[in-house]
Amino acid sequence: MNGPENIGRVVDEVYQEALKITEGDLASYIPELAVVDPELFGLSICDVEGNRINRGNTRHPFTIQSVSKVLSHICVLACQDDDTIAKRVGVEPTGEDFDSIIKLDRHRRPFNPMVNAGAIAVTDLLMSAHGDGALEKTLQLYARMLGCARVEIDETVFLSELRTGERNRAIAHLLNNFKLLDHPVEEVLQLYFKHCSVQVTTETLAHLGAVLARRGRAPTQDQALVEPDCVRKVMSVMLSCGMYNYAGQWIYEVGLPAKSGVSGCLLIVVPGRMGIGIYSPRVDVRGSSLRGVHAGRLLSERLGLHLLAG
Ligand code: GLU
Repeated sequence: MNGPENIGRVVDEVYQEALKITEGDLASYIPELAVVDPELFGLSICDVEGNRINRGNTRHPFTIQSVSKVLSHICVLACQDDDTIAKRVGVEPTGEDFDSIIKLDRHRRPFNPMVNAGAIAVTDLLMSAHGDGALEKTLQLYARMLGCARVEIDETVFLSELRTGERNRAIAHLLNNFKLLDHPVEEVLQLYFKHCSVQVTTETLAHLGAVLARRGRAPTQDQALVEPDCVRKVMSVMLSCGMYNYAGQWIYEVGLPAKSGVSGCLLIVVPGRMGIGIYSPRVDVRGSSLRGVHAGRLLSERLGLHLLAG
């Protein structure tokens, strides 16, 4: 078993090794994501007792992008029953890109809530549950899970994606065609893009991970923020689908529930132990942070975190 000092030393080594990676590109399909400093790199750990380890740019704000899908999935599990959700979105990995349209067209239902089609369908269900208060209600839960008094939306990134997000628009129209949306396409997209534009840091992502690791309770607090059953469902989908078309390799090598976002962020959960938040904006073709994935791999290996490693 690794003690806190040993973990700190391993984190130092991992941070320095991952820092050497300079491959990958800034995600440019959302224009505003292409203007960040590519050298930024933050790595934060928050364990279930609230102990923290932070290295690098851990207070630098960035947009949460697809890690919002984890939070929106939690929100929908808290306000809609399983049957209602299952009619709109499944729990199977797609093996396709995060913004793929092919399988949605063929199967007429999004495969899972961690890809764009599924998250847009989930967003519509949140609007059905909360009406005009959907943004406020969901952001309150986002803030609690991230351990912040309140969360801010990066309006520039939001507008950038609203202006250019034609693939997501195509997905939403297809969902509408399949009668999987109860609200107008543009209204659903607005909320979806707002969720993607919530500002976080690696420190707040690590807190989110720690809440999941603690089955829904914030470190050092007794009161549950979300039901353990809901956390189990979300982490199951993160495990099989959170890394998009890299999910199989990720489970094989790292063996932990995780979710990547095209801003270059990565959330990793070590159930019962800790949450890990990483940010480094150079991403690979699948939209995952190269330094983030490398660091996740090394941490799992050196701290013995793989869930199936006995
Ligand atoms: N806002 C991005 C989109 O919808 C999120 C994609 C991602 O982070 O993987 O395309």
